[in-house]
Amino acid sequence: MDKPDREERHRTRMKRKKEVVDKAIASAGIERGLLLVLTGNGKGKSSSAFGMIARALGHGMSVSVAQFIKGRSDTGEEAFFSQQNNVTWHVLGEGFTWETQNLVRDTETAQRGWAVVKKMLQDPSQQLVVLDEFTYPLKFGWLDITTVLNDINNRPPMQHVIITGRGAPELLCEAADTVTVMNDNKHAFQAGITAQKGIDL
Ligand code: ATP
Ligand code: MG
Repeated sequence: MDKPDREERHRTRMKRKKEVVDKAIASAGIERGLLLVLTGNGKGKSSSAFGMIARALGHGMSVSVAQFIKGRSDTGEEAFFSQQNNVTWHVLGEGFTWETQNLVRDTETAQRGWAVVKKMLQDPSQQLVVLDEFTYPLKFGWLDITTVLNDINNRPPMQHVIITGRGAPELLCEAADTVTVMNDNKHAFQAGITAQKGIDL
């Protein structure tokens, strides 16, 4: 094939593509707080949220985090982010796991947790609110989804909310602006490798 001809066609194609991309960028000019849901069985939900926290802090934004299932208290993310000036870090899930097998207690803990989150959702100084592993209180019926969505919808207009956890309810995904489902194609744990510092905790 003649080389100059190929280059010319590539240039024309790229020029056309640039026009399409520029037009899409120009029409996507809306600025508002987003609701993001990171769900699915694959690894990467919480760590994606922590990545966005780092981005937000890099812009000098204030971030509130609520973790709803306390698996362990020695995670790298808590050690690092709770030391940062603009971060408020709450562990609200303490005491409820499948091990408690106590619906009344789990429900009460979740409701107390939601009261804390509700304050975050009423505070315009908090520009990013992260609800880590929050799909579980919804999935297990410890919290009423309509109440939760109502409080989220009434948050300050520029505040972003990120929710992580497996099995996000349909209604939550419908309400979200961005929904990402992580696929579990392969995970080291299945090969008998235990959680590794810096990767899993
Ligand atoms: P991460 O915090 O690594 O982003 P995650 O939030 O997507 O993971 P969770 O369901 O919250 O996943 O599980 C947290 C822990 O379980 C992490 O240690 C993670 O590496 C591990 N994990 C996540 N997905 C899987 C999987 N498919 N199989 C085994 N372990 C997993
Ligand atoms: Mg997680």
